[in-house]
Amino acid sequence: MCNCVNVKMGSYDNQIVFLRPKHMIGRTEGTTSNTICIDKCIAEEIRYLWSLKVRTTGCCCGHNKQGGYIGVIDKDIEIMKKLGYKVHFNKNNLNDESNFIPKTYAK
Ligand SMILES: [Zn+2]
Repeated sequence: MCNCVNVKMGSYDNQIVFLRPKHMIGRTEGTTSNTICIDKCIAEEIRYLWSLKVRTTGCCCGHNKQGGYIGVIDKDIEIMKKLGYKVHFNKNNLNDESNFIPKTYAK
């Protein structure tokens, strides 16, 4: 699991704010803001994905309470699979393969 201690689900504790990366300017998934908040535990991993031009839609480290995920746009699902990411299946929609298990603490 991750490094969070006593971080509530949905809280913005333990986050880092980044400027929206250039390759995601104009996208509206997750947020339309010029800044994007990332859980500290997976921030390095997200920045790495951004460096590969992956377009993320949202993410959560899971705060040591549940599995985290990294969401990407449909067009980037193949890139994630090529990078070796495993799909984090959505129990409510098993056809949805747009979320992945962070490698930062995947076992
Ligand atoms: Zn965490």
